[in-house]
Amino acid sequence: MKEISCKLLVIGAGPGGYICAIRAGQLGVDTVIVEKAKAGGTCLNVGCIPSKALIHAADEFHKLRSAASGRSPLGLSLANPTIDLARTVAWKDGIVGRLNGGVTGLLKKAGVKAVIGVARFVDGKTVDVETEIGLQRIRADAIVIATGSAPIELPDMPFGGSIISSTEALSLKSVPASVAVIGGGYIGLELGTAFAKLGAHVTVLEAQTRILPQYDADLSKPIAKRLGELGIEVFTQTVAKGLSADGKSLLAEHNGRPIEVPAEKVLVTVGRKPVTEGFGLEEIDLDRAGKFIRIDDQCRTSMRGIYAIGDVTGEPMLAHRAMAQGEMVAEIVAGNKRAWDKRCIPAVCFTDPEIVTSGLSPEEARASGIEIKIGQFPFQANGRAMTTLSEDGFVRVVARADNHLVLGIQAVGHGVSELSASFGLAIEMGARLEDIAGTIHAHPTQSEAFQEAALKALGHALHI
Ligand code: FAD
Repeated sequence: MKEISCKLLVIGAGPGGYICAIRAGQLGVDTVIVEKAKAGGTCLNVGCIPSKALIHAADEFHKLRSAASGRSPLGLSLANPTIDLARTVAWKDGIVGRLNGGVTGLLKKAGVKAVIGVARFVDGKTVDVETEIGLQRIRADAIVIATGSAPIELPDMPFGGSIISSTEALSLKSVPASVAVIGGGYIGLELGTAFAKLGAHVTVLEAQTRILPQYDADLSKPIAKRLGELGIEVFTQTVAKGLSADGKSLLAEHNGRPIEVPAEKVLVTVGRKPVTEGFGLEEIDLDRAGKFIRIDDQCRTSMRGIYAIGDVTGEPMLAHRAMAQGEMVAEIVAGNKRAWDKRCIPAVCFTDPEIVTSGLSPEEARASGIEIKIGQFPFQANGRAMTTLSEDGFVRVVARADNHLVLGIQAVGHGVSELSASFGLAIEMGARLEDIAGTIHAHPTQSEAFQEAALKALGHALHI
């Protein structure tokens, strides 16, 4: 068996793992990364990037169909647009391929050795990798577990045939006549909305009392309204039971009464589980926090020299959190002092309209016993939003009542994902309401709603 040694071994080349390896390589740490599938992990291959490509294609097609309906308020018209989903998917695959190549090139540039194969722990310092050319043993001073997460399967409706996860949904070659989405969280709603815009009849089934239960109701309301406008039927307090005898519809129980919804495809998006099995983790017996690997604020596990980052360590399961953890661990392994500051991990829901949350919500701030001031400004009063038919939604700023320190910012509205960086920056830089209110925001832009929300919290908004 071939054997190599290194200072740092990273298992998994998703956004957590590849960033960790690149940074470690840049810092001169002798680093090996092992990946069993493709560089970029879930995010690049079957998550963030492909879903945003599909959402963009669906948005474009929907705009054309709206114009073709003859009801465009902009006075646009055209005849009978069509979409060739196989070509859309090929375009998306091209983007993924370019980015895969980019990650591989960056690892090489940083001097990281990449091994393709399935890693398996032998002990806390040794990992065997099953590669195409046989078993390879790697001994490392430090090991980072970045094995990510996988879609949760419903026990009575395993994946296969018409029952699909987000992974298959992103590579369909034609638009299904109907899609039943089980789970009204962000992945189900992003993809469900895209399929409705592509022309499918979409039904969403959610077990809880409303969609996006992890967001506050004010933020999810504009999404619920838009789903209705797009003809998406939403059943809350509804539990999926199984396929009908002919396999063409989904049977469910809605508030205790049976319902049947059309389902050429059933898209199951009921959450994701950490990948902690099948690679010998039991050999090293790390402490767990529920299903996840327990870590401290430097991503150290219960075993010296073993770190864990990304989805395998718990919520929020987001690519940029995994990257931030990966970068920090690389610095620590290189001997630098770093800690994990999770005060502001922005979360974006790429629904229609989009949601952004950064820092504390009003409820979280109140629950911590802080007296707060809130300023909320609606896009209805924002000129740019009017010119882009994007008046639904608002920006809300949460600040301490005593010294006006900004604690959290939330927004729902068209394109607000691009505002998330200014929200994060304000919180990270310790901005006060006066700092945001006193920053000259370009006119006409949706970002003016951010400034106005801060002004509103101070009691003197100008455009409302
Ligand atoms: P992963 O990206 O899951 O990577 C883990 C890697 O480890 C994989 O490549 C896997 O093959 C490899 N691996 C596992 N076991 C082994 C082994 N034994 N040996 C070798 N290799 C192994 N997040 C966002 O921030 N924004 C979004 O817009 C967004 N959209 C999403 C849309 C969808 C449809 C999905 C499914 C997810 C989305 N996410 C989004 C979540 C995001 O993809 C994850 O949070 C992120 O990929 C986690 O990164 P990670 O490095 O922890 O793990």
